[in-house]
Amino acid sequence: MHQGNLFTALRQAFPADLDATAIETCDTARPLYYTWRDLDRASARIANLLDFLQLPAGARVAVQTEKSVEALLLYLAVLRAGLVYLPLNSAYQADELRYFIGNAEPSVVVCSPRSFGWVGPIAFQGGVAHVFTLGEERDGSLLDRAAVHPDEHAAAVRRADDLAAILYTSGTTGRSKGAMLSHGNLLSNARVLKEHWGWRSPAQGGDVLLHALPIFHVHGLFVASHGALLNGSKMLWFNRFDPRRVAERLPEASVFMGVPTLYTRLLAEPAFTRERCAGMRLFISGSAPLLPETFNAFREHTGHTILERYGMSETVMLTSNPYRPEDGERIAGTVGRALPGVQLRVVDERDQPCATGEIGGVQVKGPNVFRGYWRMPEKTAEDFTADLWFRTGDVGRVDDRGVLTIVGRSKDLIITGGYNVYPAEVEALLNELPGVAESAVVGVAHPDFGEGVVAAVVPRAGQAPDGAALIAAMKARIAAFKVPKRVFVLDELPRNAMGKVQKNRLREQLADTFVR
Ligand code: AMP
Repeated sequence: MHQGNLFTALRQAFPADLDATAIETCDTARPLYYTWRDLDRASARIANLLDFLQLPAGARVAVQTEKSVEALLLYLAVLRAGLVYLPLNSAYQADELRYFIGNAEPSVVVCSPRSFGWVGPIAFQGGVAHVFTLGEERDGSLLDRAAVHPDEHAAAVRRADDLAAILYTSGTTGRSKGAMLSHGNLLSNARVLKEHWGWRSPAQGGDVLLHALPIFHVHGLFVASHGALLNGSKMLWFNRFDPRRVAERLPEASVFMGVPTLYTRLLAEPAFTRERCAGMRLFISGSAPLLPETFNAFREHTGHTILERYGMSETVMLTSNPYRPEDGERIAGTVGRALPGVQLRVVDERDQPCATGEIGGVQVKGPNVFRGYWRMPEKTAEDFTADLWFRTGDVGRVDDRGVLTIVGRSKDLIITGGYNVYPAEVEALLNELPGVAESAVVGVAHPDFGEGVVAAVVPRAGQAPDGAALIAAMKARIAAFKVPKRVFVLDELPRNAMGKVQKNRLREQLADTFVR
């Protein structure tokens, strides 16, 4: 059988000098240096532990920890052992976790030591056989248990279409869907990006990636980490984004990836100077629209033009602005052309291709497009056309040069600080709270987060719910980034003749909540 394991491809890309530094931590108590040999040996130990558990083929390993290099090693070990990696946002609360565990039925759950008290019982009640802990300071039972296992491991043989990871994306109905990504989906995309963004191998002087994104999401876990690993590039590793500390380390880096919020925060940081950016080769933005103001302010301030790209959990990366000047300019407000191997079209309501420049639904095909939603065949069928184009849910237009501009989202998604929030999930929770008859949740412009979540609620007859109390109640139930920053109590929601809530009107009404 052909060896299609993504880990094997990444391992083959390690540089010849295994004693060179692969990762240097920048915000741990002391700086830590991991050589390529360390990555190999430590991931082997964890993979051997996973083998030792004798899990069934296709078993899922669900991981809800804080970001750390060891969490990345765990990801590599899961690939190496041929199991399926299931990252979960560290902000998720009990109800959310119960749903993910019930839906994915993982065999292993790894959580941070401080959340074991509540994650453990949920996992065991959900039938999970093994629960380990992994802390930010190399603490927890996972590494203790792995330490006794050998530091060599032959990667499990996997075909390109075998599952490598499941990424949960919020559903429009409020239920998250698990996007199933194969080894081939991830590897083909990583190879395309390596070429497309001109990654420089160690022999060519070598890139250094400053990694400051979370690793439970496609951007930090796949695009950033795979990029560095597949190129044998060193990473300067931040467990959390701090604009001052990031600015101070930029002179040692050549590539940076961020969501738009990271760019606006960098621009507001006095330590982020033009001099500190002088040695940078590439700044990449994605996960949410980069405002032309930010694009222009960044160019003015640093002399660098941010390269914006577009993708999603279900497809990894789809389009990119050009890297090489001979391929054209990077244009503010656009997400560039389809990457090599990706087919992209814009269609009307009947799935018929639109004329150039006309607005419609964005559909894609390619080796990077996922294998469907985990245990949701109807939802999968709905999101693919009969001839297997994937309906991204994004709305856009393509100009005569093939450049895509995203103009909106048909699925009502809010993106706040790079995190996705589906209003339906928040509305369902709000409607359960005392005194609330109905609610509508929208995203409005926010200077820091791009969009900020706000809610409008209509009280039950004779009751007067308090916005601040509703916010406090929600904080205990869902991840903080989903909780509306403001809740407005209204007599009624704006509706159209069909009785449908007019979110556009509500958005206009609340537009200046965060900006004046
Ligand atoms: P996720 O699956 O969390 O990565 O979210 C994917 C969604 O983020 C896409 O469907 C788009 O709506 C949005 N998105 C990602 N990159 C961009 C971008 N560069 N510009 C506009 N929207 C983007």
